[in-house]
Amino acid sequence: MTTTTCPFCAVGCGLVLDVAGGRVAGVAPERAHPVSRGQLCAKGWNAAQFLASPERLTRPLLRRNGRLEPVPWDVALATAAAALATARREGGSDAVGVVASARATNEDAFAAMKFARAVLGTNNVDHCARVCHAPSVAGLRRTLGSGAMTNPIADVDETDCLLVVGADVTENHAILGARILAAHERGVPLLVVDPRRTRLARAADVHAQIRLGTDIAFVNGMLHAIFAHGWEDGAYLDARCENVDALRSSLARWTPDEAARVTGVPAATIVDAARLYAASRRGWLAYGLGVTQHVSGTETVIALSNLALVTGNVGVVGGGVNPLRGQNNVQGACDMGALPDVYPGYQPVDDPAVRRRFESAWGVALPSAPGLTSLAMQHAAYDGRLKTLLVIGEDPVVTDPGGRFVARALGRLDCLIVAELFLTETAKIADVVFPAASFAEKDGTFTSTERRVQRVRRAVAPPGEAWSDWEMLEALAMRCGRPMGLRDPAGVFAEMAALTPIYGGMSHARLEASGGLCWPCPTATHPGTPRLHEAGCVRGRGRLIPVDQTPPAELPDAEYPLQLTTFRLHHQYGSGSMTRRAPLLERENPRGLVWIHASDAARRRITTGAPVRVRSRRGEVTTRAVVSDDVPPGVVAMPYHFAEASPNLVTNDALDPIARMPELKVCAVAVEAC
Ligand code: SF4
Repeated sequence: MTTTTCPFCAVGCGLVLDVAGGRVAGVAPERAHPVSRGQLCAKGWNAAQFLASPERLTRPLLRRNGRLEPVPWDVALATAAAALATARREGGSDAVGVVASARATNEDAFAAMKFARAVLGTNNVDHCARVCHAPSVAGLRRTLGSGAMTNPIADVDETDCLLVVGADVTENHAILGARILAAHERGVPLLVVDPRRTRLARAADVHAQIRLGTDIAFVNGMLHAIFAHGWEDGAYLDARCENVDALRSSLARWTPDEAARVTGVPAATIVDAARLYAASRRGWLAYGLGVTQHVSGTETVIALSNLALVTGNVGVVGGGVNPLRGQNNVQGACDMGALPDVYPGYQPVDDPAVRRRFESAWGVALPSAPGLTSLAMQHAAYDGRLKTLLVIGEDPVVTDPGGRFVARALGRLDCLIVAELFLTETAKIADVVFPAASFAEKDGTFTSTERRVQRVRRAVAPPGEAWSDWEMLEALAMRCGRPMGLRDPAGVFAEMAALTPIYGGMSHARLEASGGLCWPCPTATHPGTPRLHEAGCVRGRGRLIPVDQTPPAELPDAEYPLQLTTFRLHHQYGSGSMTRRAPLLERENPRGLVWIHASDAARRRITTGAPVRVRSRRGEVTTRAVVSDDVPPGVVAMPYHFAEASPNLVTNDALDPIARMPELKVCAVAVEAC
């Protein structure tokens, strides 16, 4: 029996792998786990099914004469190292880049970050947080001083009001969703702000079914009502916040009537939501990708932070501003500095004192200017500025906007190197593919959405010749002539902790206990910090920042009269590379679907199950219809797990100007029967 951490969503449930004959024979929940408390969702129960898939990559592959062929590790490493060296010689250090993985361990992400900076000499390192919660990191750092979830999941049981914005929690963070529903059943008011009628929305006391991309108008309408009725927490604002008058005067325009005009939600509902949230002694506010995946993602995060601060809900038990991170270790990959502008622990690369500390620890000169984001790397590849790219455990051809463009851009590289479990759509177009070990085949740590750092333990050997990412990166660094000195996962963690104050008191030995520790944990005797900002915001006073409504980059018109949004299904995860190899999960949903309201379906003679074409200015995709009132008239919704019907063939890559997040949650489309 091996106790470890679920490899799917960022709730970070504890699970136990039953090993027999060198294989994982079963999965059970960890009964004593402080978050999951002996429960798992359907994905967790099926977490081991993909491990023994005959489709696992077991040997390195090299493209020869247009085909990927198995080769020894030595040959694959030599080819990758030569491609990196050639690119750097011809185009400079910024002609190469690394995309790290939010699915892999912290140790793997740290190795990827160090490989980019210390071996390749570039800050071109990023990962899929760019397309999920980069606006949370940017927005909450501006307002509170830390870009992470402020309060623990356990505070759901300590709150007087639950406000969920743009998050389909019962489907994507199911164990947390169940805890929210249980609190609601005990009488805690539940407010849901979402354009779709999710399971949580159906159960809520108030469902504000806003128009796509109008979250700021809704929140500003709530804030207007709060100030107008005197529901703000004046003592808290005086003691702990700054910029109160500027925020108050910026809200003059946002009367509930004006907010109702923009959002489509009745003014009385906006005032009701404001009263319920503000009048509660404590309000636990959570949000998801429905907030962040917009051109106004960072500003919407700031608006939510304004709402929590004005009502005195930051730094208190049962309160908080809580971004629900998607992938198992997306919080950790951010913490590890797999981002173009920060070292581990969000220490800026352009701060000379910080840079000197890393230079002295690693014995190399490091680049000072922030690097390219993952999407900017794709554009640089398309333009010929980026020549060789290493992609670890990500499938951007499926998960990033404009899938055809992404494939074309990556196809223009001199060399695409991929480390993966399976031959994903991105791996299929690679020049070198390294077989990777899965969560059950390596040691390390994951950091959950509530900043909880937990052990991941090796239960079985990796298949064939698959390696952990950090081992591959160390071998590649040696081939590049700059070994990183990474010897084992505990040693990698120790090196990271010594350079990362928020992880400074942690070690694999300390994390052995069930549930691990929440950062910040600065010293070896520190108990960890489940709740941030209790003694005042990390940045000092909570900063209120006026923000205004920005419409989506693309609105419907005569040619593209509907709005497409994207979402995730309970039984699938990410690009589906793991969950689609689990037969019990795969059987639950047909491959690719588009949800459409009955009125829009009738106008187009579309019925449930009928094949339909979804077109936008960027491309088209054929899929099948589900006629449903889960979406309002004028809106269609597609899950993004299915490469054969990927909404990212039509989504918009217009960017949030602050966090460089693409607007995956809304674009204009036409839908027709075919
Ligand atoms: Fe795994 Fe998330 Fe399900 Fe928990 S809720 S079992 S972490 S997928």
